[in-house]
Amino acid sequence: MRAMVLDKAKLPLQARDVPKPKPGRGHLLVRVNSCAVCRTDLHVVDGELSNPKLPLILGHQIVGRVEEIGEEAHSKFQIGDRVGIPWLGWTDGECAYCRSNRENLCDRARFTGYTIDGGYAEFTVADARFCFHLPEHYNDVDAAPLLCAGLIGYRSYRKTGNARCLGMYGFGNAAHLIAQIALYEGRDLFVFTRPGDVKTQQSAKALGAKWAGGSDEMPPEKLDAAIIFASVGPLVPAALHALAKGGIVVCGGIHMSDIPSFPYADLWEERVITSVANLTRRDGEEFFEIAPRVPVRTHTETFPLEEANVALDRFRAGKLKATAVLLVNPN
Ligand SMILES: [Zn+2]
Ligand SMILES: [Zn+2]
Repeated sequence: MRAMVLDKAKLPLQARDVPKPKPGRGHLLVRVNSCAVCRTDLHVVDGELSNPKLPLILGHQIVGRVEEIGEEAHSKFQIGDRVGIPWLGWTDGECAYCRSNRENLCDRARFTGYTIDGGYAEFTVADARFCFHLPEHYNDVDAAPLLCAGLIGYRSYRKTGNARCLGMYGFGNAAHLIAQIALYEGRDLFVFTRPGDVKTQQSAKALGAKWAGGSDEMPPEKLDAAIIFASVGPLVPAALHALAKGGIVVCGGIHMSDIPSFPYADLWEERVITSVANLTRRDGEEFFEIAPRVPVRTHTETFPLEEANVALDRFRAGKLKATAVLLVNPN
């Protein structure tokens, strides 16, 4: 099968013919239709995340069809079903985290497109228990970005509880999806972009943000919560400084540059800084229930599988107009 393979960090992916994987016990063999590109893919290619499987097939926002079902695979899927494959690929089900409904923190978790092969290929295999049925509302291209930007963004959003005034630092793919849910649920949204990025600020306001400005500005009201979507450490003290008493800063990314020091007074009065790691299957079920009701709209830009390097380079350079989605076996 055709695949784009990462041999080593900091090298471009190689287009290669590799053996078609076989579904093991509990697995689905999935014919990949589309796979969205995530910032995490860039972090892996750029060597910012340690110990990926190598050589590796990237991609953890996979939409495809079940082609074959391995022995003892979960009965919720049949051959021909459309399936979504997310970042969380496997957990042991028995560590202290798994047993306390925190499988996202499983000690032995495996991740699609990082420690197991993902969707930058014609076929992939996935543990059926971690795959999702996708809402009919979305076609194969529009559904792909929901599988990480949507799911992990949603987990970040849920950490903000009932915050009325919600800040978002960075307004890329995940922020754009989650902003729609926040507005649907009646939150007041405050969006922070790179200073001077008037275009993104305007698009945030057009979507319904109450205020949009630079990350060097203070919002007109104190924030009950802020989600940091950009992988920029200095945004953490900036967001903390904008919080009301008891507020929370949620760091939504898997990687971030170092966080500078800040005065204790900005943390005092029970302000909280936390991060979000991975997702649970429950996050996925909740998200796919609410997304079509909003309905959350995705914006995508498509590339053929063979142009994965072009998509990654444009992502790194900030030159994508929307979420990049690789077309693998388009219908
Ligand atoms: Zn576990
Ligand atoms: Zn991702």
